Amino acid sequence: MKSGKQRREEIKAKRLVRLRAAQAPNPFMPSKAVPLGAMAADPAQLAHNNTYGLLPSFYIDTPFVCKNCGAQEIWTAKQQKWWYEIAKGQIDTRAVRCRPCRLLERARVEKARRVSQAGMALKIEKKKNGENRNTNNNG
Ligand SMILES: [Zn+2]
Repeated sequence: MKSGKQRREEIKAKRLVRLRAAQAPNPFMPSKAVPLGAMAADPAQLAHNNTYGLLPSFYIDTPFVCKNCGAQEIWTAKQQKWWYEIAKGQIDTRAVRCRPCRLLERARVEKARRVSQAGMALKIEKKKNGENRNTNNNG
């Protein structure tokens, strides 16, 4: 259980992030100008997005709070350009976890996938054996 003071600090930190985001230039506003410290977007590399909405004209360092550990992080313009234009991330996706939490989450998902696939393989194997037994009984 968090104390009232801890909770207040968290609320204050989140409010600060929201305030900064509200003051930051909006990359989705149609404009040719790229603000200081921002990186221009390449529309050709964003063509994989089949959105009816606007695509960003630039990327700018964006603060966010890690959803797992609450760390205050910056999603840099360079990282955003990589994510949207090289990794072909969907345009409505955002950074939600800090790097250590992202690595932990990736390991967790991979482990869960391995367990699930092992379970499926076992199920298929059992089914196969069961069918073989049935054919033997019939024959
Ligand atoms: Zn984190």
